[in-house]
Amino acid sequence: MTDSRSAELFARAQQVTPGGVNSPVRAFNSVGGTPRFIASAKGAHLRDVDGNDLVDLIGSWGPMLLGHAHPEVIDAITRTAANGTSFGAPTEAEVDLAAAIVERTPIEQVRLVNSGTEATMSVLRLARGATGRDLIVKFAGCYHGHADSLLAEAGSGVATLSLPGTPGVTAGTAADTIVVPYNDREAVTAVFAERGDQVACVITEAAPGNMGVVPPGEVDGEGFNAFLLRTCHEHGALLISDEVMTGFRVTRTGHFGIDGVVPDLMTFGKVMGGGFPAAAFGGRAELMQHLAPVGGVYQAGTLSGNPVATTAGLTTLRLATPEVYDHIGRAADVLRAAVTEAFTAAGLPHVIQSDGTLFSVFLTPEHITAVPDYATAQLTDSRAYAAFFHGMLDRGVHLPPSAYEAWFLSAAHDDAALDRITAALPAAARDAAAARQAQWAATASH
Ligand SMILES: *Cc1c(COP(=O)(O)O)cnc(C)c1O
Repeated sequence: MTDSRSAELFARAQQVTPGGVNSPVRAFNSVGGTPRFIASAKGAHLRDVDGNDLVDLIGSWGPMLLGHAHPEVIDAITRTAANGTSFGAPTEAEVDLAAAIVERTPIEQVRLVNSGTEATMSVLRLARGATGRDLIVKFAGCYHGHADSLLAEAGSGVATLSLPGTPGVTAGTAADTIVVPYNDREAVTAVFAERGDQVACVITEAAPGNMGVVPPGEVDGEGFNAFLLRTCHEHGALLISDEVMTGFRVTRTGHFGIDGVVPDLMTFGKVMGGGFPAAAFGGRAELMQHLAPVGGVYQAGTLSGNPVATTAGLTTLRLATPEVYDHIGRAADVLRAAVTEAFTAAGLPHVIQSDGTLFSVFLTPEHITAVPDYATAQLTDSRAYAAFFHGMLDRGVHLPPSAYEAWFLSAAHDDAALDRITAALPAAARDAAAARQAQWAATASH
């Protein structure tokens, strides 16, 4: 498999763009080598600029639930674009997309924005405006986009680059963000005991997918999200459930459909944009009424509710039938079993965790049997993962270039695509085991 044209483009990209990429996770910093530049994609396949065909397990980091270039989505956006691409005035498709989101989720009203980052940034302002409080509580390893107040211990992107903190975020902003370990009820209770009357909101991923997949734990029949909702309401704070990754992906409704907890506010993105920049935040009408032009909390966007983006999102949601989720669920079962078989045969300790159809693989030390939080996720052997990643890439499978990411399947992952992946796994697992052995040997000789 060649990558000479990709290497050429990457060299050029590095001249004109920091690190050669427009989002850090696209760089191969933690796995080494040159990112593949993509020329086109169809269904479950990417074609890079060197002509290599790759089975895609990134799915644009979540949005491509139906697979790439779905004919009905392409047809809908092409017809829409021919009628003009942005008006700065309302359109019917915006109303339809908002209604589709409201119909599938427990929220009553929704505001459309352009990215998940914008959704979480705006929802925090709303929570602060509605409560008149400043503090926010987030969990280590949860990623909520790159807004200043949400970058503390923010999971995969930051973890992959091993960045200690984030320069450019003011001390004041950092001081308004309290970070606690995920699934740690005592830590949450302690924060609220001390500063509960100043907390505007707790923001959590409905089920974290940005430190690998870490499902909310249950204690005495109460799930972690239910615990958070109860604790927030005991102290007059709001619970924000970030479903930018899980919404309309792990089930037709998102993670909400799994644990049924109705948070005060929610955020969505990725799948609901159908491969375009579209995202949303919403909640009870009474809370959403704090937003301008009704209320005093200002929030706006020149391209918000863009007709092409809303058409892509709406068409994707319409095509995301129960059969799509059943198909992805079966594909996930096939892959989980194949990974377990290949890793076990290679003598590679690992943990697989799932939330609905979303799953990830942790290359953990032998004694670890579950990953409940970020500290445990960070025990992942990232060098073994790098070897595994390149073993798969050499055999035509494009995994996320990070040990802390979920694997994204689509409705287009058919038997042929799954066969390519399962055929590549045993040798790539042996590559990873060899990298692990080499590290041990190196440590032992010191
Ligand atoms: C991807 C993601 C975001 C950020 O969305 P962008 O569109 O990349 O800004 C926020 N929250 C979660 C849970 C995400 O997975």
